[in-house]
Amino acid sequence: MNTRNLRFRSNRIRDILGLFHEELDPLYGSGEVAAFCEILCEAFLGWDRVRLLTEKEKTIDQSDLLRFHWALEDLHRHRPIQHIVGYTDFCGCRIEVCPDVLIPRPETEEMVRWITGGNLPEAGSILDLCTGSGCIAIALKQAFPRAEMTAVDVSDRALAVAQRNATANGTEVEFQHADVLSARFGEDFGRYSLIVSNPPYVRECEKARMSANVLDYDPALALFVPDDDPLRFYRAIGIFAQEHLGENGLLALEINEALGDETCELLHRTGFSPTLHTDFRGRKRWVSAHKD
Ligand code: GLN
Repeated sequence: MNTRNLRFRSNRIRDILGLFHEELDPLYGSGEVAAFCEILCEAFLGWDRVRLLTEKEKTIDQSDLLRFHWALEDLHRHRPIQHIVGYTDFCGCRIEVCPDVLIPRPETEEMVRWITGGNLPEAGSILDLCTGSGCIAIALKQAFPRAEMTAVDVSDRALAVAQRNATANGTEVEFQHADVLSARFGEDFGRYSLIVSNPPYVRECEKARMSANVLDYDPALALFVPDDDPLRFYRAIGIFAQEHLGENGLLALEINEALGDETCELLHRTGFSPTLHTDFRGRKRWVSAHKD
């Protein structure tokens, strides 16, 4: 395949990135396209941001050019950049992602940073429910290396990804297959100083407002809950935590920003004193709670 077929004017970085901006800026905006370019140059060429700024006249070989070509095609189709390169960064950990797990989000990082920033006095044993890629469990285990970390998911495919992520990040996490919503959930668990979760919370009725890169590529199992019972996971986790949270234990849950008050009310009725937290965009994003 020659460079004409690939639409690129040359194998020069400047021309390659120029075409990305030309074709994708109208779709994504130039700031986001610049971020894609940085991520792709790191993933495909091992270049950091400084090298990208200073060595734009360098040329790359044809096989690398082909990878940029396919990335451009994928981005036209709204394939998430994290799926194109196969990973994302979460609280300093490199996390493998694929369609079997939800792509870790920056708002979830904020919740983890809040927990690690002096808000968990004692990290004896930690339980992460609906772990997905394992990002929360892995980041917390790195912050609290002596804590005993358990992480649960209903998807075996997600658990396989999470296990690989734990190993790749040198963290020891015990993964368990379990369904938080099942009537028997809880039988095999002990007591924890922190129970944390980012469970599914997007209502079916919210689908219309979601972008193609989320709807087509993130696993529906990790996202959606029925319109008539959007807090089902919070109810199950609340009841479980009443029994399995130790004295002075902390419950931390990412929430649907539209259901902040309802989630707090539910936790209140379940015997907790909840606090609502907002993320960097000023949106209600997670709840921390202690037992009454
Ligand atoms: N924050 C995710 C989103 O907006 C949803 C995550 C979840 O349902 N737990 O797509």
